[in-house]
Amino acid sequence: MAEDCIFCKIAAGELPSEIVQEDEDTLAFMDINPWTRGHALVIPRNHSRNLYEVGENDLRNTSNAAQRLALRLRERLGCDGVNLLNACEPAAWQSVFHFHLHVIPRYDDDPLQLPVRPRQAEPDELAEVAAEIRGG
Ligand code: AMP
Ligand code: ZN
Repeated sequence: MAEDCIFCKIAAGELPSEIVQEDEDTLAFMDINPWTRGHALVIPRNHSRNLYEVGENDLRNTSNAAQRLALRLRERLGCDGVNLLNACEPAAWQSVFHFHLHVIPRYDDDPLQLPVRPRQAEPDELAEVAAEIRGG
């Protein structure tokens, strides 16, 4: 447990939360600022800062728990789809530094919109960045 981590405190039962699913390794609870009805967070009980640092077992268990929760949301809330979202570092909107997956039920008539306007890449652009990622 990390000191001053609100999600560690939730996992330890020291802060209130609306838990919707739990097992030995993970916990899922309602996000206090839901984007849609039923928006939940899935966390490993073990503390890690984010995707860069989470251990592979915690990542696997949290991903599996997120899938179980998505199926539960479809069954119980009748959502029409689900977004699975992770934010890693402030540049990517991370605000709580204990690894977590957002499981966001989506409804055909919900008001959420894509936060980006995708544009087609120039032909050389993809090749150039792909080469940089491959390295060598
Ligand atoms: P992120 O920006 O991806 O780090 O997401 C952190 C999320 O945690 C936000 O959506 C917050 O609304 C949510 N959050 C912060 N504090 C709490 C809390 N005490 N209980 C439940 N959700 C929380
Ligand atoms: Zn923590």
